[in-house]
Amino acid sequence: MNGAKMAWFDETLHDGIRQSLTVDRLLHREHTGLQELTIFENRLFGRVLALDGAIQTAEADEYVYHEMLAHPAILARKAALCSGPQDSLDILIVGGGDGGCLREVLRHPEVRATQVEIDARVVELAKLHLPALSAGAFDDPRAELVVADGARFVAETERRFDVAIVDSTDPVGPGAALFTGEFYRNCKRCLKDGGVLVTQNGVPALQGGELAASHAAFRTLFADPAFYVAPVPTYNGGFMAFGWATDDPGLRRWSGATIRDRIDAIGLETRYFNAEIFSAAFVLPNDIRSLLRA
Ligand code: SAM
Repeated sequence: MNGAKMAWFDETLHDGIRQSLTVDRLLHREHTGLQELTIFENRLFGRVLALDGAIQTAEADEYVYHEMLAHPAILARKAALCSGPQDSLDILIVGGGDGGCLREVLRHPEVRATQVEIDARVVELAKLHLPALSAGAFDDPRAELVVADGARFVAETERRFDVAIVDSTDPVGPGAALFTGEFYRNCKRCLKDGGVLVTQNGVPALQGGELAASHAAFRTLFADPAFYVAPVPTYNGGFMAFGWATDDPGLRRWSGATIRDRIDAIGLETRYFNAEIFSAAFVLPNDIRSLLRA
């Protein structure tokens, strides 16, 4: 942070570009032992969580990111299983310490969610300073929080999941282990047949290499490797990409009508995601497509 009168938070995630936000109120700052954590208030984005200098989430637009992480995969898997409200669905979340992803996952009444987060302080401090993110999700009896390295968990667990969601930091610090071929292979190992892996895959305009590397790994492991996109203003640089990897190629091809039926069945009200976006989000512009050919 700098400036005598106005304090600024400088996000220095990418080489050669910097994003600065005013710190209108600093709420918390500490080194958790794993990463440098800052929570502050900004007049445009609301409360903002940053780890190791990289913005993780902001109150103003977190719903775009968290709805898009959770709902496409869960709805598609429910459609494939023709599951009813009595059938349970096992969801794994790796990372996601702010609780926003868990909140959206638990909006599906039939899920049981296991969240593996490496840093308990992120959960504690997000609950305190960003309570709207988890909105009580960590206290839901359908949710279990495991404080552990997600890479190790997927390598060792005997449990199997319908959907695995990787809500990770970028591939620096503890998050680096969540972008390797070995990690993706282990994620596949703990998916049920036809289950789906969803990943936070950065902003292609600034992190094209990461997208290409994830795609190369998905391609060797899954019958249907894909990416879908959404714009999240906090993540500077245009579209944000989400990885999608499964052996069930039908999952991302459900019609809007099928997805809408599933949305209506649980009365899911969303601020960004809808049945038409389910299909549209998988349509990639040519510059992103070309990264997948590399
Ligand atoms: N939306 C965010 C983004 O775009 O970067 C991600 C938010 S969430 C706060 C990321 C979480 O991943 C953090 O709480 C961090 O502690 C966790 N994390 C990083 N590496 C991890 C690992 N190896 N295992 C489990 N959780 C990890």
